Amino acid sequence: PGDIAHPVAVGLEVAGDGPALPLTPGLPDALFEHDGQITKQAVRAITLAALAPSAGERLWDIGTGSGSVAIEWLLAHPDNRAVAVERDAGRAARARRNAGNLGVDWLEVVEGSAPDVLHDPALSGQPPDAVFIGGGLSQPLLEALWQRLPAGARLVANAVTLESEALLAQWQQQAGGELLRLELAAAVPLGSRRGWKASYPIVQWRVTR
Ligand code: SAH
Repeated sequence: PGDIAHPVAVGLEVAGDGPALPLTPGLPDALFEHDGQITKQAVRAITLAALAPSAGERLWDIGTGSGSVAIEWLLAHPDNRAVAVERDAGRAARARRNAGNLGVDWLEVVEGSAPDVLHDPALSGQPPDAVFIGGGLSQPLLEALWQRLPAGARLVANAVTLESEALLAQWQQQAGGELLRLELAAAVPLGSRRGWKASYPIVQWRVTR
């Protein structure tokens, strides 16, 4: 990953001798250092489409893990900004490394637990244009965000557990927006033939404040 240059991030049409990154979101998982806690390529592409970055916009990526969503937000345009929140120190450091390796070292990584971390100066200063919740989804977090987000801000939340899925179902009923269930399966060897190996279903809520 260290040799890969993103043409937009470096402001060039052709970036050196190494391979150039694709221009669309949904980069291969292998480009990110991760410990398994990563939003996989196909779901990440759908998530970035829902977050819908425009030039110069700011994202909060809560539960950033490897940082992949925030990094792809930054790769969308060199004027974009992102604050990544992660409670695990090792993952926060990894997100910083990934941002550096992929040419967007201006990613701001805040180590802390949501919703408490919303008091951090990196988040309490400038409001975001979009928020992604990839981890730490809870009623207090949604309440705190709902109170603080400016009108027009986009919120996208992904849930894997029944408990967080129930929370999103409840919020969609009250606040509107769209609920999607993403069910993906990949063909894998099954004895001498192949079979579909299903991923956990992911429920995604997208709403505009
Ligand atoms: N979108 C990420 C994957 C997120 S996995 C990626 O593509 O890499 C969920 C992450 O949320 C984990 O790293 C976990 O440590 C973090 N997390 C869980 N609860 C949290 C909380 N309350 N505050 C901050 N981070 C949290």
